[in-house]
Amino acid sequence: MALKDLFTKNQPKKKKYATIPAETAKNDVPEGIMTKCPSCKKIMYTKELVKNAKVCLHCGFHFQMNAAERIDSFLDEGSFVEINENMVSENPLNFPDYLEKLEKDRQKSKLNEAVVTGMGTVNGHKIVVAIMDASFRMGSMGSVVGEKITLAIEKADDLSIPFVIFTASGGARMQEGALSLMQMAKTSVALKKFSNNGGLIISIMTHPTTGGVSASFASLGDYNFAEPGALIAFAGRRVIEQSIREELPEDFQTAEFLLKHGQLDAIISRIDLVENLTNILEIHQPGGELEWQGN
Ligand SMILES: [Zn+2]
Repeated sequence: MALKDLFTKNQPKKKKYATIPAETAKNDVPEGIMTKCPSCKKIMYTKELVKNAKVCLHCGFHFQMNAAERIDSFLDEGSFVEINENMVSENPLNFPDYLEKLEKDRQKSKLNEAVVTGMGTVNGHKIVVAIMDASFRMGSMGSVVGEKITLAIEKADDLSIPFVIFTASGGARMQEGALSLMQMAKTSVALKKFSNNGGLIISIMTHPTTGGVSASFASLGDYNFAEPGALIAFAGRRVIEQSIREELPEDFQTAEFLLKHGQLDAIISRIDLVENLTNILEIHQPGGELEWQGN
């Protein structure tokens, strides 16, 4: 008997039916020909879903998008020029296994960090854009994420063009401790300077935007928008309930709830985003014209 038979003899028979690959199910990334909507449970062609900016054709559910997909769907074709793409995190606190985890995420996401920054155009309007990607360390904010966002804001300031940020984050990066929290102050100061110089800041919160990111640059736009159904939160429900000793409504950390309570300016479907942003950029550009429809 061969040695390998010793180990396979009592194994259960291989299942005959197909299983969904764990990675696909976890990331909501539509692979294969058909995709099932987690909200309405209807099945559609993946190709058509992608063509529809990954918005469910039946119920409007917004699937998660990575940075590359956002660039493709939001900026004019071929207009994106990335900046600071080679910046990588070190392990300042010697946190166990941090460097290995970063390397693993680099390979998985094909990104060097959880935010992609650069310049591009939306219907011809020049902007600096920062796009967070939840597939890298859950989009958490470490020193490099904070630095890249700050440099992008400064770039917008230098060029006197609007700054647009798409947030998606699990919050501060625990492996960088207090250094991670300091990014909240650093990015906020950069935005304030940019704002004082007349800069336009547009924040688009996507699912999920939480922790220190929701409490800093995500909420500091001249316009604070969100995608439908996005989870936007600072702390988890249990922590808040324990500290205020009150029960919270079921939907209190959704974009829809925040809009109702004045925390957001609008919820914009991904389908309408380019058109809406084009209008805003037109209104704000020097010499821009706003058609007056009143009396
Ligand atoms: Zn659906």
